[in-house]
Amino acid sequence: MAIRFLRYNDAEVLRKPAAPIKKITAGTLRLLEDMVETMHYHNGVGLAAPQVGISRKVIVVQWQDTLYQLINPEIMEREGEIVTEEGCLSFPGVWGEVKRSKIIKVKALNPQGEEVAIDAEGRLAVIFQHEIDHVNGEVFIDKIIRFTDPEAEEEESVSDQVALKD
Ligand code: ZN
Repeated sequence: MAIRFLRYNDAEVLRKPAAPIKKITAGTLRLLEDMVETMHYHNGVGLAAPQVGISRKVIVVQWQDTLYQLINPEIMEREGEIVTEEGCLSFPGVWGEVKRSKIIKVKALNPQGEEVAIDAEGRLAVIFQHEIDHVNGEVFIDKIIRFTDPEAEEEESVSDQVALKD
């Protein structure tokens, strides 16, 4: 396992749709392992392969005690709306509110190559949408409806609002 270098701000790879994985190889599994280690190292809740310079449809998400390692993730269904504050490991210091679907269904392959379907709601749904955007070449800063500063607004923010970095 290794911690990989992050790509930031204007890096071209962040705005390019990533290619799907056609065959899961030892290299794919190594990438997944490294992405998990890199995400944990930076205290992130999610990471997409383009953020480590690899233009492939691979994401990892750590939500509470569950680790998701997803290949070729796609959003199959969406419902409702939710606005939450987001940040991104590739855009240090930038925070803002983004409007997302509240409930989603994600389809992907797991590292064993089996198809999995995940129902996600609220914060977890937001994280998946943020990461799946990354593999589609989209970044959250283009979707911010209001820029925020979590430190300046600490006093008025609700207690369960955890800064989201992915
Ligand atoms: Zn991000």
